[in-house]
Amino acid sequence: MAASSSGYSRMLFSLRKYTNKSQSLYHIDTNFVIRTIWTSGSKKQLKTKVQTKSLPQMVGVVGLEIHAQIQSTSKLFSGSHVRFLAPPNSLVSYFDASLPGTLPVLNRRCVEAAVLTGLALNCTINRKSLFDRKHYFYADMPAGYQITQQRLPIAVDGTLVYSLFEGRRRNQVVTKSVKIKQIQLEQDSGKSLHDNEQSQTLIDLNRAGVGLMELVMEPEMCCGEEAAAAVRELQLILQALGTCQGNMAEGQLRVDANVSVHRPGEPMGVRTEVKNINSVRHMAKAIDYEIQRQMEVLQSGGTVLNETRAFDSKSGNTIPMRDKEGLQDYRFMPEPNLPPLFVYESEASVPVGVDSAQVVVIDRLSAQLPELPSVRRTRLVETYGILREHSLTLVNEDGLMDFFESVVQMTKVEPRKVIGWVMNELMGNLNLQSLKVSQR
Ligand code: ADP
Ligand code: MG
Repeated sequence: MAASSSGYSRMLFSLRKYTNKSQSLYHIDTNFVIRTIWTSGSKKQLKTKVQTKSLPQMVGVVGLEIHAQIQSTSKLFSGSHVRFLAPPNSLVSYFDASLPGTLPVLNRRCVEAAVLTGLALNCTINRKSLFDRKHYFYADMPAGYQITQQRLPIAVDGTLVYSLFEGRRRNQVVTKSVKIKQIQLEQDSGKSLHDNEQSQTLIDLNRAGVGLMELVMEPEMCCGEEAAAAVRELQLILQALGTCQGNMAEGQLRVDANVSVHRPGEPMGVRTEVKNINSVRHMAKAIDYEIQRQMEVLQSGGTVLNETRAFDSKSGNTIPMRDKEGLQDYRFMPEPNLPPLFVYESEASVPVGVDSAQVVVIDRLSAQLPELPSVRRTRLVETYGILREHSLTLVNEDGLMDFFESVVQMTKVEPRKVIGWVMNELMGNLNLQSLKVSQR
């Protein structure tokens, strides 16, 4: 949902408070343990001995919740068009504005996008899923509730496999995975624009009702770098599928990072949720800052509060937004205007009398799955005989794979020579000038 501005003055205040904070990075953790020793002999005698025992280092735990705007020409429950930067309130139907008597009509294209995404992430697609109302007040959500899938989401139990560079010289490719708990379909809210000069808030409902896929990941990552690699892979998958354009700066992909710290073997710590993240790089910074901050809080005897924090990209800090302690009551209830959503395994399983062109059929979508980034990397390694780490860079950098393949084709130079030139000369020069491949 769109960030509210109510905590803004508090944010500024806390920002001042935290910018002065010193940041010592590592802290050796030694604990004094009193051990009781029973001495031998007829009379049991107690002796106490003070011993130092070092506990395992604290580690970070990261779980992401990602809202991906579905790439579709119309909204989730109305026929209004979806377009970025259209004139305010030019893409609003009566339903989007919640006029009484209007009813939702589910957009099949959005359901197909969620199923395709679920398939690409190895999820189980629920043959039946349900819509619910989640109530809360936002000026830019005129119904007073959001239609979401709380009880039974469309896809569950998936895995996102991602790779990243590790090792001292950052040249070793390591592959990891994180479980996807669920993918649910829901509506986006509108946008509030605050006009400080005239002290008024303006509402733009163009985005209200746009289809979102919320992906909830299990808390299985440990740092900003892992989360960044996972989100980058997700971006590439969504773009390959055509289900979301994945641009974080334009809000098509919005990541909330849940962060906690604990000692391995002990229960997980209290988490904070970091919002206002608009790039993968900022997300990694926000997560690492938050892990470090929580470790310092605990090591100095404090407690971590379950709160929502915002990332401030200028200072690189996270600052409290609003308290999550008083749990909000969303008064979830079944959405009465939408029947259960059914998807079918194959053409043969579509019930007689149902027009199969109007329903979502999993087999049909599986057949449409494009070449996913991991397969693309394997193909590059096999076709051109290049190293796996180079295939990771080729696929992960926007436009680099196409560039490499066209150079090989046009020049007929040995691919391994081309890749050497791309990695050393081209990338080196682009990095020096902070340019992207598309700007070469
Ligand atoms: P809630 O029901 O309170 O929203 P969930 O279990 O749905 O909680 O988790 C929400 C998100 O928070 C998930 O992405 C999950 O991975 C993450 N998360 C849960 N517990 C922790 C934790 N201790 N540390 C970090 N992330 C966590
Ligand atoms: Mg949740």
